[in-house]
Amino acid sequence: MPNPRLWMSFIFLALLLAACKTQYPETCPSSTPVGLLQANAIAEDNSLAFRFPLDESPVDETLYFGWFGISNECPPGAEDCFNFPVREFHAAEDYRRPPGTPVYAMADGRISFSGRAGGYGWLILIDHPQANLYSLYGHLSPSRWKLATGTEVKKGDLVAYLGDPDENGGSVENPLDPHLHFGLRAGQTADYPSRGEWRFMAGWIKPCPQELGWLQPSLVITSQHIPFADYPAPQVGFLVRWGVELVITGAYTLFGLGTLLYAIKKNKSIFMLFPAAIVILAGFVLHNNRVLSTYALLVIGIFMLASGTYLYLRRATAKPLDQSM
Ligand SMILES: [Zn+2]
Repeated sequence: MPNPRLWMSFIFLALLLAACKTQYPETCPSSTPVGLLQANAIAEDNSLAFRFPLDESPVDETLYFGWFGISNECPPGAEDCFNFPVREFHAAEDYRRPPGTPVYAMADGRISFSGRAGGYGWLILIDHPQANLYSLYGHLSPSRWKLATGTEVKKGDLVAYLGDPDENGGSVENPLDPHLHFGLRAGQTADYPSRGEWRFMAGWIKPCPQELGWLQPSLVITSQHIPFADYPAPQVGFLVRWGVELVITGAYTLFGLGTLLYAIKKNKSIFMLFPAAIVILAGFVLHNNRVLSTYALLVIGIFMLASGTYLYLRRATAKPLDQSM
């Protein structure tokens, strides 16, 4: 075994490199606020391919909450800002409506996901292969009626209701303003770059949403324009797509294996328990940054924790035997 300090330095360097972030754009092509004044008419016209997902509340532009493609960074003088640790862009439109407002399918399709999803409360995704789209409905109500994954829907079918402030992704301590987070992306969930549920469920993302095929929902619905069926997948290089994942997974695998071998050789469970805690903590932190390999981290951490506990217990039970001999 080479010098362990050399290994540790290498791993530390690899982690530092992995932490370096790609430079993302300052601004995206500005989104054009689209009046929702026609929303009711479009929702009622059965000859159209798409409809707005809401129809009950009075429709006017002030019911917009967050526009498509805006940055979460506070513009000068703004009072109502999103507070994220990193700069990201909004990949959807937010329509402010009261809890309990019905939400409808924007087109025929199949529900590819219906379930709890972190800050979304209840989330529904509908694939519309005939239009080469999928639509995303966030901040729905977990407690109210909703359709299940796998259900085939027709345009205008009721899929769920908007959630209350404490269940729509918010909590009693931190209630969330009730609104529909409505996203629309060309392609299918299956072809989202760097697959992983948190990615194709993107609400706020680092690249401009347009670069990953996200479309401005109200523009598409108003124009009734169906994107080309062969929408090209975004050109993302292998290292850009997988580089961070590979480095983090590789570094932690080396770290985990190294610690495991060392702890077994020296029969010291403390060398397993302490890194296990760090790895599990890192797994949770990185999970919030939507890094895919966090699953690997959690598995490695739990494995180390289990091995450490086993070593500790084996030593504890072995002692009396040693004395009796
Ligand atoms: Zn939103």
